[in-house]
Amino acid sequence: MATDPVCKMNVEPAKAAAKVDYNGQLYYFCSESCHKAFTEAPQKYAGAAPPPHSSHQHGHR
Ligand SMILES: [Zn+2]
Repeated sequence: MATDPVCKMNVEPAKAAAKVDYNGQLYYFCSESCHKAFTEAPQKYAGAAPPPHSSHQHGHR
């Protein structure tokens, strides 16, 4: 059983509406709308891996 990172519900991979490979991790979605939300802001839902707003990009080099 996998967890839909957008709505946090359990998704059976075999029945997932969509799946995405992000940073080498597979994410399953209950619906196309959750899939879309994830693809628009994966860093917001994938959590764990990338640190949350750790640095402000001051002075673009
Ligand atoms: Zn969902």
